Amino acid sequence: MKSFIEYGKSTHFPMENFPFGVFEYNGERRICTALGGYVIDLKELEELGYFHDIMDKDGKLFRGTSLNHFMSRGRVLSGEVRKILQNIFDEKNPLLRDNPVHRNRCIHQRNKVKMVMPVEIGDYTDFYSSREHAINVGEMFRGKDNALMPNWLHIPIAYHGRSGSIVISGTDVKRPKGQTKPSPEGPPVFGPCKQLDFELEMGFFVGTGNEQGESIPADEADEHIFGMVIVNDWSARDIQAWEYQPLGPFLAKNFATSISPWVVTLDALEPFKTEGPKFEKELLPYLHTKGNPTYDIHLEVGIKSEMSEEMFIICKSNYKYLYYNMRQHLAHHTVNGCNTRTGDMMASGTISGPSKESRGSMLEITWRGTEPVKLPTGEERKFIEDGDTVVMTAYCENKDFRIGFGEVTGKIISN
Ligand code: MN
Repeated sequence: MKSFIEYGKSTHFPMENFPFGVFEYNGERRICTALGGYVIDLKELEELGYFHDIMDKDGKLFRGTSLNHFMSRGRVLSGEVRKILQNIFDEKNPLLRDNPVHRNRCIHQRNKVKMVMPVEIGDYTDFYSSREHAINVGEMFRGKDNALMPNWLHIPIAYHGRSGSIVISGTDVKRPKGQTKPSPEGPPVFGPCKQLDFELEMGFFVGTGNEQGESIPADEADEHIFGMVIVNDWSARDIQAWEYQPLGPFLAKNFATSISPWVVTLDALEPFKTEGPKFEKELLPYLHTKGNPTYDIHLEVGIKSEMSEEMFIICKSNYKYLYYNMRQHLAHHTVNGCNTRTGDMMASGTISGPSKESRGSMLEITWRGTEPVKLPTGEERKFIEDGDTVVMTAYCENKDFRIGFGEVTGKIISN
């Protein structure tokens, strides 16, 4: 596939991708896609008639300031839009290629525009689906013998998060304050979190939901999933350790969660489907999935202190390490009749892998601060300090192209 828009082989956004997002232009929010180093204004393309064959009756498929309406129209339609885009931007198609007026209206340099929240997020759920992460954390908090809770190998564990504090990549995050208990004997104290952490995760958006009382079978989940983003589930470990029993995380998590701006569709990810893990315990039938249920997505976390512009790669992991996959997440979430709605977000949980290099949080990387990391500047890190920027990136790769997610960045500011 070749486009009249030129881009290099390492771009995250080749003709095979066409993710969806929202950008700000002249003070207005508009739905867009990415191709190489450019954003393509889809509202403008629609008004110029390029989506004539699949337009809504009122001609406003890309209406509004978020992807929600478009997402609610289902996966078949987003797949068609992707195919039409591949045709519009084909190097042999003169329609847009040879129309400088149209090109000027639709195509903008990506580094000159501001990306904003792509989705009006309804409910947000965070799973806990990496076995390695669950074991690492369990070992630190409960000891080696009780590392994995007995339910973990049977049921995808999750908690309900807070959608209102989800922010777009590039948003500064203020260090949270809260109650912690510095010593087992002493009283709790109040103040800024001293063990601020990131969690490397991927999330998916519900495109079309289900009615209350109904369920989504695992093998039909793909039809309900619009696409995926990178998620940084910021976590205050000292607050979490004191508050989490018996109901789970609360203020340790809900102050901020960062997401990447481009929603990559399952159609674009299709060539990178891969085998999941072997299930150690036989799962209940509603959690069975056919075929290759997961994706081979490279994940990286970098950290940059205020002393340097240089990024230090602190973690390399892969989405395929997850024990439970997205289909199981959606099937499990709805098995009791819980409804889901367009724009709901479900995150995977921290994605750690089998090697030390693939640990997806500072908690694990520094083993609760006992093995600090040395940055190239000579500074040491046990957790995230004020002024640190955390950058996560994700992409699939074969010999011909990459399907990428761009990145999610966030800087911690003092409180
Ligand atoms: Mn999490």
